[in-house]
Amino acid sequence: MSAALRIAKRTSKYLGLLLLALLLVVFASVPLARWEMQVDLFEPDNSQPLAVDNVHLITMSDEPLMEDRQLLIRDGLIEDIRPAGSPVSTGYRLIDGGGAHILPGLFDMHTHVMDRKYLALHLAYGVTSVRNMGGYPMHLRWKQEIEEGEWLGSNLFTATPTMNGKKNSNPFAHKIVEDSGDARERVRRYHEAGFDFVKVYTRLSVEVYEAIIDEAGKLDFPVAGHVPYAVVAKDYSLGIPMVSLEHTEEIYQGPLDYSYDDESVEAIVQRLREMRATVTPTLLIFDHLTQIARHKQAFVDSLELQYLNPFMRFAEAKGSVSRWLSANDDLRDSLEERNAFFQRLTLALHEAGVNMVTGSDSGVLYAIPGQATHDEIALLKQAGIPTDAILEMATIKAAQVLRVDDRLGTIEPGKVADLVVTEENPLIEPGSLREPVAVIRNGQWLDQSTLRALRESATHPSNMYYTFGRLLEFTFYD
Ligand SMILES: [Zn+2]
Repeated sequence: MSAALRIAKRTSKYLGLLLLALLLVVFASVPLARWEMQVDLFEPDNSQPLAVDNVHLITMSDEPLMEDRQLLIRDGLIEDIRPAGSPVSTGYRLIDGGGAHILPGLFDMHTHVMDRKYLALHLAYGVTSVRNMGGYPMHLRWKQEIEEGEWLGSNLFTATPTMNGKKNSNPFAHKIVEDSGDARERVRRYHEAGFDFVKVYTRLSVEVYEAIIDEAGKLDFPVAGHVPYAVVAKDYSLGIPMVSLEHTEEIYQGPLDYSYDDESVEAIVQRLREMRATVTPTLLIFDHLTQIARHKQAFVDSLELQYLNPFMRFAEAKGSVSRWLSANDDLRDSLEERNAFFQRLTLALHEAGVNMVTGSDSGVLYAIPGQATHDEIALLKQAGIPTDAILEMATIKAAQVLRVDDRLGTIEPGKVADLVVTEENPLIEPGSLREPVAVIRNGQWLDQSTLRALRESATHPSNMYYTFGRLLEFTFYD
């Protein structure tokens, strides 16, 4: 054997070992990520009953504004609403609200929770409930950890893994479902596993979509997401059983067939009203990509990217963000035109009486969880929707879509004490919700220094390796 051949043989043996070690490291990320518990999470403590005195309540219920009240909170629930200055029994922590306003905690109905810290961050911004629109096994664990009081974060309602057809599907985010029998089995398995609702996506076939709707209907398991394009082409009203239709952009690309025409808009708006649909406009995310295309790196530099999970940030930088950063003037102009149209469309939906809820699509495209919810509220206002209607979309209407309005979404005795406290009246100045005086979560008073600490802890998300482990886990999950 020649010397060269011997060296080649030895090298290939080492290469093999190296490859094996690498594979072990890659696959070890799955169990390691399952056990990872971030260290600087906060422990909830609602053991002390509260008497929050001298406050005005925006209840989102029969008596919309209750001035000069005292709110009693115990064991995570609103115990009583009394006149301000009522005598308080010992054992209650008396907090002088000093004329502050209290609103039910906000909901973000379209978000992607790719890190535990996103739930802490949402909470720090008064977003006490989030609907996660793409489910992974990690979300079932996080949901349980929060419900069991292991750490402090917003309520998590999570979609199943997103079911999609083959075209444009992403193995780390979607499950390809092309067979009706498979679709039905998945619906049953996901329901059994504890997901809150089914997520359907654009490339499902009509047959598979109908099987999902039928099977979910038998289980009283809600379905939300995108009306698949094949379904739009066949009959848009097949979308009726869905509890919410996501993105005004999908209305534009789907039934409007890329038309800005007023008559077509009027027709589709009436159609959605007749369908009694609920729409989540998600104005923020399209505005966000338009801003990237317009201001390029200067806009990106203005974002607090330290809150983003590093793996997701990396993936976005290589994907969508780089695409919009390199947008030429023509593309930028057409994005701006479309962005303005989405605001007009959203206003038309509101004026026609179509039910809507707030959702930001944060967690993708560098949109920062929590902050993006407030940006969405500001854009809805910019679109011309009255503030009281926006606040309903962000509280009681969201709770109704999630079917949790028996415990969330209003301020009434017996409801969960998830609340936002603001200095100014948010009905007049919704921007004040962005910097609350305090947030009350499950009966626990979180003052401004605690909210700051929560935000600070959110600057330490999971690392790349653990995040990759959780995404890899998804690819094995059936
Ligand atoms: Zn989304």
